[in-house]
Amino acid sequence: MTIDTANRPSRKAAGERPDFLVSFEFFPPKTDAMEERFWESIGKLAPLHPRFVSVTYGAGGSTRERTLRMVKEVKAQTGIDAAAHLTCVGATRDEVDAVVRGYQAAGVSRIVALRGDPAEGIGQPFTPHPQGYQNAADLVAGLRRIGDFDISVAAYPEKHPQSPNWAADIDNLKRKLDAGATRAVTQMYFNNDDYFRLIDRARAAGITAPIVPGIQPIHSFKQISGFAARCGASIPAWLEERFMGLEEDPETHALVASAVAAEQVLELVDNGITEFHFYTLNRSNLVLALARLLGYRPDSRA
Ligand code: FAD
Repeated sequence: MTIDTANRPSRKAAGERPDFLVSFEFFPPKTDAMEERFWESIGKLAPLHPRFVSVTYGAGGSTRERTLRMVKEVKAQTGIDAAAHLTCVGATRDEVDAVVRGYQAAGVSRIVALRGDPAEGIGQPFTPHPQGYQNAADLVAGLRRIGDFDISVAAYPEKHPQSPNWAADIDNLKRKLDAGATRAVTQMYFNNDDYFRLIDRARAAGITAPIVPGIQPIHSFKQISGFAARCGASIPAWLEERFMGLEEDPETHALVASAVAAEQVLELVDNGITEFHFYTLNRSNLVLALARLLGYRPDSRA
C-alpha cells in the first residue's frame, strides 16, 4: 500500500482535536433489557460526535420496523446522523423502495446498502426475489433513483466467500461505487495486511472512494468466533492463542480484547488510515477506549 506520510494524522496526545472520522454500528434491540443497553451505549458514544451511527437490518427484513424506529430515535434524541442498513433479500423492488421512502420521510439520508444473505446463511447461494433487486449494486442504483442518499456499501478484506476470485470481488465493489455509493465499509477482519492488500487491489482497479476498516472489538472471543465463521472472516491462530483459556476469566479477557483492538487500530493509524467504523454490538466500553486512543473525548468535535 502506498501512503503519503507527509501530513498524516498521528496518534493523538490527550486533549488534541481528532483528525479522524468514526462511525458506530448498532443492531436493533429485541427486548426491553436490550433496548436499555442500546440507549446506555448510545448515551456514552454520542458525545464523541461520530460521523454517523448505523443500525443493522435483520435477515430478510425481519427488523424492518425496529430498524426504522431506532434510526429515527437516535437522530431525534442525539441529533447525530443515523444510517439505516437495508438489504434486498426476499423483497420486491417496490417493497424495498417503500422502505426507502419511509426512511426519506423520516429524514434519514444515510443508507448502508447490502445484498443480504439467504435465510440459511452465507454458505447457501443467493437467489434474488424475481421482482427484487439483484444485488447490492442494483440496490444502490435504485436508491439513487429515489433520492440523494449518502450510501455506504460492503467490502471484504478476505474476499466475499461467494466470489470466485479477487478480480470478481473487486469488480463487484467497483460496480457498487460506480452505481453511486460514497464509500465502502469492510467486513470485520483481524489481520491488517488483508485490509492493506484490499486497498492496493481497489486502487489498482481505479477505485478512489474511501474504504473504511470495520473494527470488531472482541467482547467475547467465543461469540465473535461464531460471527466470523458465519460471515466468512477468519480467526488467525495467533488471535485464538491470545484468548485461549480465558473463558472463565472475564477481567483478563477484557484486557486482552482491549490490547488486541488497540494494536489493530493504532497500526492502521500508523499507516495513514483516518476513518474507522466500529462494530459495537450495542456495547460501548471497548469502543470508547479505542476512540480515546484516537484522541476523542466526550464533546470533542470530529
Ligand atoms: P454484493 O456486493 O451484492 O455481492 C455479494 C457477492 O455476490 C459477491 O461475491 C459478488 O461477487 C457476488 N455478486 C454480486 N453481483 C453479482 C452478479 N451480478 N453476478 C455474479 N455474482 C455477483 N447483512 C444483513 O443482513 N443486514 C445488515 O444490516 C448487514 N450489514 C452489513 C454491514 C457491513 C459493513 C458489511 C460488510 C456486511 C453487512 N451485512 C449485513 C452482510 C452482507 O449482507 C453479506 O456480507 C452478504 O453476503 C453480501 O452483501 P453485499 O452487499 O456485499 O453483496
